[in-house]
Formats: sequence, C-alpha cells, structure tokens
Amino acid sequence: MWDSVFRHTDAYLASLDDRPVGVPVAPDVLRTRLAGELPDVGLAPEQVIDELVAAVDPGLVASAGPRYFGFVTGQALPAARAADMLAAVWDQNAFSYVSSPAAAVVEEVAERWVLDVLGLPASASVGFVTGASMANATCLAAARNVVLGRLGWDAARDGLIGAPPLRVFAGAEAHATIFAALRLVGLGAGSATLVDVTPQGALDAEALVLDGPAIVCAQAGNVNTGASDDLALLAAKCRAAGAWLHVDGAFGLWAAAAPSLRASVAGVELADSWATDAHKWLNVPYDSGLAIVADRVAHRAAMGLSAAYLTESEHRQNYDYTPEASRRARGFAVYAALRSLGRSGLAALIERCCAHARLFASLLDAGGATVLNDVVLNQVLVAASPEAIARVQADGTCWLGGTVWREQPAMRISVSGYETTEDDVRRSAAAILRALG
Ligand SMILES: *Cc1c(COP(=O)(O)O)cnc(C)c1O
Repeated sequence: MWDSVFRHTDAYLASLDDRPVGVPVAPDVLRTRLAGELPDVGLAPEQVIDELVAAVDPGLVASAGPRYFGFVTGQALPAARAADMLAAVWDQNAFSYVSSPAAAVVEEVAERWVLDVLGLPASASVGFVTGASMANATCLAAARNVVLGRLGWDAARDGLIGAPPLRVFAGAEAHATIFAALRLVGLGAGSATLVDVTPQGALDAEALVLDGPAIVCAQAGNVNTGASDDLALLAAKCRAAGAWLHVDGAFGLWAAAAPSLRASVAGVELADSWATDAHKWLNVPYDSGLAIVADRVAHRAAMGLSAAYLTESEHRQNYDYTPEASRRARGFAVYAALRSLGRSGLAALIERCCAHARLFASLLDAGGATVLNDVVLNQVLVAASPEAIARVQADGTCWLGGTVWREQPAMRISVSGYETTEDDVRRSAAAILRALG
C-alpha cells in the first residue's frame, strides 16, 4: 500500500512544475467521478486510494507549485510536508503532555523559535491553531477578557451579558477575518469603529483617538498592498490609554524575520497579541496558524480548560493556548520548516519573494499594465477587468484572483512560495500581459 502511496505523491510533486495551475472545472465533472453510491461492503485501502487519486485530479489546484499567486498562498517546504505526513502517521493527539509528550515539547521549542525569528518577546505564548482566522479569534478572546477586566468585569466567568461597553477600533481596510473573529468572541462585527486608512490601506495611526481601555486591531501586511500600519505609534497610543493592541500579521508579520524588511514593522514587538499563518509565508502545509499573546497568563485564561493556568506546570499543556482540546500535532511541521530553513534561509525566502514581486511589477509596468500599489512586500496589485482575470485563470500558466481596490477592479499577485523562480515570474508576467491584451 505505501509503495503505491509514495508513487502517487512522487508523481504529483513531479507534475507541479508543468500541470495547468488551477484551471476552472465544473462541479459535475468531479461529481461524476466521485459521487457513486456508498458501498455496502468496504473496499481495500489500495483501491480506495488509487481511485481517489485518479478521480480528483482535474479538481486539484497546483497551489503547492511555483506559479500559484492567488490569495496569499505558501508552498510546502519538503521537511514541513514530510513532518506533516508523519504527524498523520503517528496520529498524535496534541491535546496535552501525556497524550503526546513529543507534540508538547516540539510545540514548546517551535514557540521559542517563532518568537525569536519574529523578534517578539521571549515570554509570549504561542498557540498552534488552524490559521490566522482562528489566531485572530484566540487573541481577541484574550484581549476582550483583559480589557473588560480593566473596566471591572470578569468576562471569562460572567460572559458578556451585562458587561460594560467595550470599544473596538480597526482600520477601514482590516481583513474580513477580523470582523468574523469579533463576531465569534461575542463582540459583534459592528462593534468596531473603522479608522481612516492611508492611500496604501494602512490604518492612519495619527487619526486614531483613544480615551480609555479599548481593543485596537492593527495590521502588518494589507492583503491587497502589503502595507503595514505604523505599529510603533499605535503601540504608544494604546499604552497611554490602557488599550490592547492586536496585530493581524497573517503574512506581513514575517517581514520581521528579514533584516531588510524589519523596519517596515518597527514597533511590532510592543503589541499585546499577534495573529499569523505558518501555511502562508513559512511554507508549511495547511492548516497551520499561530496565535501569539504577550501575556501568557491571559492567553491561558482565555483558552485553557481549567484554573490550572494559574499555576505553572513543569509541562506545556497545548490545550491552554488553542480553542481545541484534541487536535492534530501541527507543531511538527512548523518545527521542521524553521529547522530546515534556519534563520538565514527564512530571511532569504522572505526577501526573495519580495524581489520577485518587484520584478513582477516592473515587467507588467513595462508591458503597459497599471500597477496600483507601492510594492513594499510580496503583493502586487494590477488594474484588470474580471474578464482579463478569467483569461489568466483559463490559460493555466499561473493563477491569481481578483479584488476591488479603491472601487477599481484589480488582480492581486502574491508571491509567497520558496520554490518560485525568476523564470516562473517571467513566464507568468508574459501570460498576464497576453490576457490583459
Ligand atoms: C489570510 C489572511 C487572514 C486569514 O488567514 P487564514 O489563514 O485564511 O485563516 C487574515 N488576515 C490577513 C491579513 C490575511 O492575509
């Protein structure tokens, strides 16, 4: 069985460089291939896997390949991919120390490395969650409890019914998942006062007025432009007002790991919490996000299962830092990614992606396209009609999606993968220029 599984994985990985990237497929094509009746009697595992591999092929998107620039999508570093497969084979429950001492200590070490490479306080805590959405929710749950605590209310015990009003601020260009997280933690998407943004979509820190405890949702890396907020100024304002500064840095936080980009997120270490993804720029397979809170006790008070958070134990209990109890051992892949890159390899990955983004912008600009953003990170925004974007997608050389920027339809190119080469950028830029006509 495993020989054939590895034949399938090898064949898929070998196909990534050539297969059309995410060309559209009608759902009925896949339904016809997949949706037979559930058999009464089960089939042999080899047959299930062989037939599954054959059936899903037209519906697979080569997002692990070098020319997928849609959303913000990382590839999968070989060590991270292998560690993630082993996490499934070992079938570890990362819930607690006794359920998997290996998962507990790997997450303890990965926590230390993550804080180190991102330049965040060594005393902060990291929860290994599914993605930045859940990281935002985890951090905002801690923020809610602490800020309401400053207003004399114990939200962890008493909930929100009858609680004093809690002010929340977010940039007008905050990511949709910030508002989803606010809904999830009971504050409501409409609770956030939207603060004006700069022409590049960063929260205008000068415009923010705080007059007491509040939650401020800032951003490192606007999903359209890559721009980061003025985090140093926001941190100073929050500190003066007793407000909690949360940074959504799903991909942009990784700028902190590259010496040449660190200044763009200056002051980031002064925040109270940070949400980021490992499955985007760290190139760990899905799903993998990191919920980071400066005050470890507040993190555990919001997420832990018992009052045990009040006492330090000799072991890390992973359930103290995530909304889940039983879960997959996500830390193995993060550990493997960081160890295989090393500090300098991580910085090189981040800087290479940004250089590719600048090359994209210059090639497209030279070809007559209109680049709409300052290319300060790995995101490139190009004026394009939905029809032109559909032509790029149908062509299959590369894949990218559409967005609307300042009421103008645009395509968004995100370079986030370790394996993308300059040649991939040139081939893709040529395909985009053809589609723009
Ligand atoms: C991708 C992204 C998110 C959501 O992350 P998921 O990993 O999809 O949960 C949040 N904020 C920003 C800025 C993002 O780019």
